[in-house]
Amino acid sequence: MKLPLWGGGRKMDRNKELRQIAEEKLREKKEKIYEIPKDVDTVIHELQVHQIELEMQNEELKNSRAELEELSEKYYDLYDFAPVGYFTLDLVNRITEVNSTGADLLGFPKENLVDRYFRWYVPPESTKSFHNHFNKSFRKMEKQTFEIGLIKKNGVIFDAHIELQPFYGDKYKPYQSDTYLKMAVIDITRQKNLERELKRSNEELQQFAYVASHDLQEPLRTIASFTQLLERRYKNQLDGDADEFINFIVEASVRMKQQIEDLLEFSRVMTRGSEFIKVNVNELLKEEISSLKTLIDENNAEISCNSMPEIYADSIQVGRLFQNLIINSIKFRKPNESPKIHISARKDEKTHEYIFSISDNGIGIEPQYLERIFTIFQRLHTREEYGGTGIGLAVAKKIVERHGGRIWVESEFGKGSTFYFTLPKPLVLAQQN
Ligand code: ADP
Repeated sequence: MKLPLWGGGRKMDRNKELRQIAEEKLREKKEKIYEIPKDVDTVIHELQVHQIELEMQNEELKNSRAELEELSEKYYDLYDFAPVGYFTLDLVNRITEVNSTGADLLGFPKENLVDRYFRWYVPPESTKSFHNHFNKSFRKMEKQTFEIGLIKKNGVIFDAHIELQPFYGDKYKPYQSDTYLKMAVIDITRQKNLERELKRSNEELQQFAYVASHDLQEPLRTIASFTQLLERRYKNQLDGDADEFINFIVEASVRMKQQIEDLLEFSRVMTRGSEFIKVNVNELLKEEISSLKTLIDENNAEISCNSMPEIYADSIQVGRLFQNLIINSIKFRKPNESPKIHISARKDEKTHEYIFSISDNGIGIEPQYLERIFTIFQRLHTREEYGGTGIGLAVAKKIVERHGGRIWVESEFGKGSTFYFTLPKPLVLAQQN
């Protein structure tokens, strides 16, 4: 074992120092020694100095060794009781070393795991994934991160997050015997169970929203049509209060109809989406803007657009997304200024995403509401100020998330807002461009 003592220069200095100390110690001793001839005296002197020097060097070596042993114990404790299971695997996935945490994860004593193949603890449904990552890690000499199931001694399968890092000796050649893999294993069963539970309850909630809104439509239709009938037949025949009450019911049922339709649309984003296809956003926007022509003309709105990219998406949903944002930019206009809306897109080279933005010169949003407005039914104004159901942005968010993107808004209250959303650039298109 090489001892990490001193560098060459420092060692020389240290030797000189030791020599000096040894000389002094000998001088003390010499006072007691009787007279002897001069040359013999010199030899004895040298020998004695060397002996003391050696004793001192020996003492220092012992101390360094004890220090090293203590450090090595500390390191080993850290390795052994780390909160992560560590395995070292050779080229054929045989375990050459494992820490206590790793052994506990699989439920075996450490000594029973060494020399066994790690693949024995991988259940059949995860075997392909494990081998793919294992081989890729060796072949490309690069780190692999993945999640698979692992079997415990008692047969229970747990979810594991795995990181494989290949290492090689001095003579680097992949597939040489001095190549090995360090593997970190973390039990993520709890997290996975929570994820599964969340997914299940989301699906249930979505199903509930769908069934409730679907089933509510029928009785609502009956209420609406009969009150409208009542209004038509008996208007001005009952007293003034009755006319007003009928009016309230008609208005409320129209509102509720809109809310139910919006809720249904919200619950359908995930369940009734179409396949992703190549979409030319320039053309899509042209169509959406022309379908909003009346609203645009009525408000004297100006819409400008930069050149838009091609994306892979559900074109109906992305069309709806643009529509919701454009309608809001017109709806939340300043009363005495005609709406000016600018739509643009840019590529984020780092993340391979397109970032779309829709900016307006409308009333703007106060900073404390910037996140809240994407939650379903959250509105910042009364019905009398601005009509709406508070679902438009929640639908927009769901659509963006279904496409793997994010949505957010930046705004200056009283000056205008810019809504941003990202859509990942699919690999096929990324390779073409
Ligand atoms: P709705 O438009 O039906 O109220 P949304 O979910 O579309 O519901 O919007 C939620 C709230 O966000 C709106 O009530 C409004 O207060 C605010 N908001 C949305 N878009 C804009 C915008 N372009 N400018 C200012 N406020 C906006």
